[in-house]
Amino acid sequence: MDLHPNVAPTPREAGTGTRFWIFPQPPFIPGYEQPDRVWLSMLPDEISEGPSDALMYVADPLYSKQPYGLSRLPPFDGARRPPVPAGPDRHFDSIAPRSRAYFGVHAYACIHRVLDIWQSYLGHQIRWFFDGTLPRLEIVPFVEWDNAQAGYGFLELGCSHAGGSPRPYALNFDAIAHEVGHLILFSEIGVPLGASRESDFFPFSEGFSDCVSLISFLYFDSAIDRLLRRTSGNLLLYNELNRFAETSPESQIRLATNFRRMSQVTREPHDRSLPFVGAVFDSIVELYHQNLVANHCAGSRLLEVDLRELALDEFDRFRELTAESFREKPLLFQLSLMKARDDVGRALGAALANLDARTLTFGQAAMAIVDAADGAAAERLEDNFAWREIIS
Ligand SMILES: [Zn+2]
Repeated sequence: MDLHPNVAPTPREAGTGTRFWIFPQPPFIPGYEQPDRVWLSMLPDEISEGPSDALMYVADPLYSKQPYGLSRLPPFDGARRPPVPAGPDRHFDSIAPRSRAYFGVHAYACIHRVLDIWQSYLGHQIRWFFDGTLPRLEIVPFVEWDNAQAGYGFLELGCSHAGGSPRPYALNFDAIAHEVGHLILFSEIGVPLGASRESDFFPFSEGFSDCVSLISFLYFDSAIDRLLRRTSGNLLLYNELNRFAETSPESQIRLATNFRRMSQVTREPHDRSLPFVGAVFDSIVELYHQNLVANHCAGSRLLEVDLRELALDEFDRFRELTAESFREKPLLFQLSLMKARDDVGRALGAALANLDARTLTFGQAAMAIVDAADGAAAERLEDNFAWREIIS
């Protein structure tokens, strides 16, 4: 059977971006074995083999390489695996997404995807904070190291051995998006030169990067669809959203659904970032509920419950409030979630213009986010930051 001519990509499509595969969650997570085909905004003409472009390039070491550190910085000058060329149509989705050669392509695609999203929120192109000395970001897709890190001119990815089999971070969108979050923050608000180890900058940076990861994940149509189906529209059920750091390279598993307040955390940056991430997550969920009510997908009773104080039996009733309606109008649930995601994402992005890494405090960052938000989003964020004791 011949396909309808409009099914095949037409030459006109070549001007709209470049196709890649991305796994929204690592492929070993059940339900996420298949990658999504995504269009990056970069045009095929702008991408060379590697892949590489004016902003970044993949350097895939042939042998194991030591992770970068204070005394070791890019460029990598050892033997490299051959650069990966695009397919004959100049896109990268003809390459097997689970092949070793694809590690670098996947990491490259994830980084661009996150930049596409956050540059939309920021309203401008991100300029790397290191571009005075290193013009491009070096992406190292595989090092023998159970961690991932981004720093001055590089983003490099190791491999977790949790669960007995190797799980390369190059296939882990969450981990990569988190590291890109650090790079965005440094590039937009500067480097905390002279800041003490006690500075709020470091925990804020962890929290902000987790939010970048969480919000960017919500840009996969397939992920939103699966998430809402699995929970019948009720995001408080345990799900992909609060498992997003399950195999995080960070030293501990951080959950977006936590009830910690500032008086209940230590000064360790990941621990101290929890109230911030929790406040942002709760705001997205509450805005989602408001949108459901506005879209006639749920009664206003949904807005009367305090989500943090639901007892188990109430939880079941609460679930029933949304499940039936979800079966009738799933697409309105998707729209409600996307709007909540964008209202919060835009505020996070816009707030950066008013922050300075050298003097940043959590309270000031939270107020800048509230100030940058519109109406209902500002109200939800302010309430949640106050409940978390980030602002008074
Ligand atoms: Zn981090």
